[in-house]
Amino acid sequence: MNNEVEDLLSRCIHFNGAIGGRCEAGISYKELVGSDSEFWARIPCRPPLFKFEGAAIRFPIVPCEKKTTVSREIAEEKARLVRHQLQQRLNISKIVRDLANAKGFGRQPEGQSGSSELQCPVCITGTLRYAVDGATGKLAASCTTGDCVRWQEEDRFPGITSLNFK
Ligand SMILES: [Zn+2]
Repeated sequence: MNNEVEDLLSRCIHFNGAIGGRCEAGISYKELVGSDSEFWARIPCRPPLFKFEGAAIRFPIVPCEKKTTVSREIAEEKARLVRHQLQQRLNISKIVRDLANAKGFGRQPEGQSGSSELQCPVCITGTLRYAVDGATGKLAASCTTGDCVRWQEEDRFPGITSLNFK
């Protein structure tokens, strides 16, 4: 929580992530930092890349007169919201995974594929459809409501990734 807040407090509201371009305040990233190999370690727009002791000396952050951050109050509110959404994602992916397991989808060694659906617990109005690939055991799910949840389990992060959550 505190790390999230600190990260938000060290992130400039003008930062748009575009290397080589200009930020929302019109500052050229390249001109400000110089296009050296330590660009991302020295850019002032985002949380420090390295947080080990002495990092600030080894990779001095370039000052920017346009740097503007949100207030601590807003940062704390944002961090709360992000945590809440993350928790919802974990909850819903676990619920659907448990349902799929209960139906025996993807269970080894049979490797049975299967799909089913339920009333979407997020938007309530939509139908949440999910399918388990018998060969991989991975689950994919999406809600019929266009901008609701959708996710796909991947190998690197068992459980939940590639999730759109609005
Ligand atoms: Zn939904």
